[in-house]
Amino acid sequence: MLSQNMQDALNGQINEELFSAYLYASMASHFEHTSLPGFAQWMRVQSEEELVHARKLVTYVNNRNGQVIYKAIAAPQTDWASPLAALQDAYKHECHISECINKLQSLSLKLNDHATHAFLEWFVTEQVEEEANVDKTVQALKMVADAPSGLFLLDREMAQRSAAPPAPATD
Ligand code: MG
Repeated sequence: MLSQNMQDALNGQINEELFSAYLYASMASHFEHTSLPGFAQWMRVQSEEELVHARKLVTYVNNRNGQVIYKAIAAPQTDWASPLAALQDAYKHECHISECINKLQSLSLKLNDHATHAFLEWFVTEQVEEEANVDKTVQALKMVADAPSGLFLLDREMAQRSAAPPAPATD
């Protein structure tokens, strides 16, 4: 059974992951609106992956006999000055999520909750990939700078990202 402290913290993380999904959905709409369908596709997949992260946490809390409590999701930003500004915000956001996961891991150790610690290892590894993926695009956008032809090609590359696997329906 989960301690109240750990349950509260995991519920907080469910909200963080749902906000992430909301933020990337907003970025996807922004990119559709600014005629970058490849970036929009990439952000849609990113948003779906965040829903999978939230679902993983929900399943875990339920499996440990905890109570999932959904909180209000904050409204995300809707416009960005440039594709680079949006991806830099996404990178900053992923660094924030990594910090949240680190705090959860520290709490699990403090509470001697080794099951939660083991469960969260997946998120620790995932965050390395999340930061690297977004940073790769930030660096590519910096290289392209303001060249429309470069942005056009990069948009085509971003369109290649395929849909995330469906969330497990085990909760
Ligand atoms: Mg996530």
